[in-house]
Amino acid sequence: MATVELKNVHKDFGKHRVISDVTLDLQKGEFVVFVGPSGCGKSTLLRMIAGLEEITDGHLLIDGEDVTDTLPAERGVSMVFQSYALYPHMSVYENMAFGLEQAKLKKPQIAERVAEAARMLQIEELLERKPRALSGGQRQRVAIGRAITRNPRVFLFDEPLSNLDAALRGETRVEIARLHARLADTTMIYVTHDQVEAMTLADRIVVLNKGHVEQVGAPLDLYDHPASQFVAGFIGSPR
Ligand code: ADP
Ligand code: MG
Repeated sequence: MATVELKNVHKDFGKHRVISDVTLDLQKGEFVVFVGPSGCGKSTLLRMIAGLEEITDGHLLIDGEDVTDTLPAERGVSMVFQSYALYPHMSVYENMAFGLEQAKLKKPQIAERVAEAARMLQIEELLERKPRALSGGQRQRVAIGRAITRNPRVFLFDEPLSNLDAALRGETRVEIARLHARLADTTMIYVTHDQVEAMTLADRIVVLNKGHVEQVGAPLDLYDHPASQFVAGFIGSPR
């Protein structure tokens, strides 16, 4: 069964159509990268899957269940943002525990989940710190750790590396690949405009152009057999 199905999804902002008839079947545990130039609709598509943006037309199914009109918290989806989106007045621990408290988990269970995520991301030493006392790379680890504590069935990343310097970008990319290997049942959808990130992380790449899907395929398929000039220009092999 596909974990995430988009069926003829459209999105309008006022009179402006930004997502046009997107249909996709994403498999359980698959690492799918949405790639395309700035403004092509990657974030909007991700935010619709997260429930942060209403779907104008079409349907979204997760594990076969229609969640088109459900609230974000009911979807079993966690999202990591480019800007980290940590609460500045809370410690790392409190940031990671907050969503679990909202979900009314018991204190010992919260402590256990936070400890496990902190171990996975190697941020155990940072739990008492405030976000301002962390480097950009550490903040991103905390944001990923916080998303993990929720045991999501779908993990969404919106350009998580774009605020990091080049060295840290490579390191964090490897970390995310490791996470994917570890959370084998968790479907991951990762948005980037970076071709290298897409090629190295993806099981399958979805190339977006002006709100529609240009091509879907494994990285090497797209590289060797781009279906259009656009795809060739974006990730195809030089000819
Ligand atoms: P990407 O993430 O690929 O850079 P976005 O999904 O952010 O692209 O944006 C796609 C298009 O939708 C852009 O033209 C953008 O200006 C427009 N857009 C995004 N969010 C809004 C909004 N809240 N209101 C109006 N237009 C928006
Ligand atoms: Mg974006």
